[in-house]
Amino acid sequence: KTILITGASGFVAAHVLHVFLEAGYKVRGTVRSEESAEAVKKSHSQYGEQLSFAIVPDITAQGAFDEAVKNVDGVVHTASPFVMEVKDNNQDLLAPAVKGTTNILKSLHEKNTRVKRLVLTSSFAAMIDIPKGLRPDHTYTEDDWNPVEKDEARSTENGAVAYCASKTFAERAAYEFVEAAQPKLCVTTLCPPMIYGPNLHTVTDIKKLNTSSADIYRLINGSEKSVPDTSFPAFVDVRDVALAHLRAYESEVAGNQRYFLASSTFTYQQVCDIIRENFPELRNRVPEGTPNAPLPDMFKVDHSKAERDLDIHFRSLKDTIVDTVKNLLELEKQL
Ligand code: NDP
Repeated sequence: KTILITGASGFVAAHVLHVFLEAGYKVRGTVRSEESAEAVKKSHSQYGEQLSFAIVPDITAQGAFDEAVKNVDGVVHTASPFVMEVKDNNQDLLAPAVKGTTNILKSLHEKNTRVKRLVLTSSFAAMIDIPKGLRPDHTYTEDDWNPVEKDEARSTENGAVAYCASKTFAERAAYEFVEAAQPKLCVTTLCPPMIYGPNLHTVTDIKKLNTSSADIYRLINGSEKSVPDTSFPAFVDVRDVALAHLRAYESEVAGNQRYFLASSTFTYQQVCDIIRENFPELRNRVPEGTPNAPLPDMFKVDHSKAERDLDIHFRSLKDTIVDTVKNLLELEKQL
């Protein structure tokens, strides 16, 4: 069987590719350029012909995925900008997120009805109610939707709000498409919060890490003098996210279901504590803050649905951060 994985060059996609290839699937990855395809071939060289590519230069163009979807059996759509600093919210975030999603669904509906499942990498960004803050009395579950409105999404100067809106509207668009077009396929949407873990993709510049890896790297590269505020205080390991994509594709019960993939809540103080404890050589680079400070009163996360349906046993913050930092130090040495 062949699985189409969009955005194959990304941090998350590298792990998604890995689990599908390891499970014996053929994978066709979409990338924006030949150069990008070469980088993915390099990071996944052990799979040879099992991995092929389709170049989709612009996911917002009409019929963008018409060629790429031909003869595949399943689709995982990860391609979407995860950036917080943009010039134009619509062009740089909202359009690629939403049109990328509807375009792939349209191509499948019109060109390949063999596909019965599309797994969409959505986000906790599509669940969180930002203005409500830490919400100590709330438990986030799959029932939560980010209430952001289109006008605010287009005009806000807060990049995080615009990014969260792009994920919200993209996920909503997927369910709306299914409702309206009644295609032959089911969608499964996955909502991970901050995703940490080792980089498996080709990284060529330590200053150009993906957003969530950079979020940890800044804590060990000496650039933060004090422990920053934790803006999105929930995390998950990238390896658990990848496995969830495979299980979401394979599981009968996961059709038209949404899954919240949060391991737990966390703070950057905890991350700094873990790093200082496990990497004593980094102590002069990592802000100390108030070691072992209790977690502030904040929302809870309920991952029981993913645990039950997808059989995911979420890695702990300590395991994730230790492996992330080991990998970042290796990259620092190599680059
Ligand atoms: P990366 O930046 O590493 O990867 C993003 C991928 O999407 C790349 O393949 C990139 O291609 C592609 N992409 C970005 N913008 C466009 C565009 N305008 N047109 C076509 N392709 C585009 O980020 P992640 O791996 O972290 O993100 C992957 C997915 O996971 C995204 O959907 C993101 O929203 C989601 N996610 C990530 C979280 C995290 O903490 N990392 C948390 C929750 C969800 P190219 O290499 O060509 O730029």
